[in-house]
Amino acid sequence: MTFGDLELVSLLDGFFRLDGGAMFGVVPKPLWARRAAPDEQNRIRLSMRPLLVRGAKTMIIDAGIGDKMDAKSCEIYGIDRAENLDVSMAAAGLDAAGVEIVLASHLHFDHAGGFTVRDSAGTLRPRFPNARYIARTAEWEDATHPHERNRASYLPENFVPLMEAGVLDLVAADAVIMPGVRVVRTGGHTMHHQIVFIESGGRTAVFAADLMPTTAHVSEPWIMAYDLYPMDTLAFKRAFLRDAIEREYLVFFEHDPVVVAGHIRRANGRTWVEPALV
Ligand SMILES: [Zn+2]
Repeated sequence: MTFGDLELVSLLDGFFRLDGGAMFGVVPKPLWARRAAPDEQNRIRLSMRPLLVRGAKTMIIDAGIGDKMDAKSCEIYGIDRAENLDVSMAAAGLDAAGVEIVLASHLHFDHAGGFTVRDSAGTLRPRFPNARYIARTAEWEDATHPHERNRASYLPENFVPLMEAGVLDLVAADAVIMPGVRVVRTGGHTMHHQIVFIESGGRTAVFAADLMPTTAHVSEPWIMAYDLYPMDTLAFKRAFLRDAIEREYLVFFEHDPVVVAGHIRRANGRTWVEPALV
């Protein structure tokens, strides 16, 4: 899609499954099950949709789960990468060598797994050989000093090899990454989780990452139990929704299995997404 001076292409690194109860926090199952039908293990299907931004540079935001998960994890998370990032990049006329910037919303494995690959000798290396990788300084600190509550989400194999290869740039605060693209910290999901504002030709698109992983999460109390600081998620989301509705943001939903992006609408106390891209 052309977006002002930029081009946006939603990519796909396949699908995975997470516990429906954990995905919707305090929301009772009879309510969330109408939006996302659970399987026999109570899991719901989620996508992983990195976003390609072509502008001054060729950038991707997040890179999916990648192909390093072992058989047990593939089973637990129901990973289905029949369609994956290589396939969707090829469809967009892009190969790994053509990516110049890889921007991380945060360093959880379903976002950063695709940052590295294991080569034929078993050595971990950056998956995009010509890219600078960008992450938030404090997110890096958290990822490399995990505690019992977040350890399962931060797999060192996804990001430590980037530092070792000297291709990781840490950004300490909200910043412009390239013309028309800037990051804004949300906190909530992780203390330093960030979303990406893409602004060109008078329009604004936002890559919402785990602030609102699916369209169901535009409802204010629908907050993941995975979030470390759910009240921070609520505060940020409340203000963000106001702006998004008023200013007609095109919001990209990284984990929604059906809707790629849409505009947020609100009437009679109800908030919903009008799909623009499915
Ligand atoms: Zn996450």
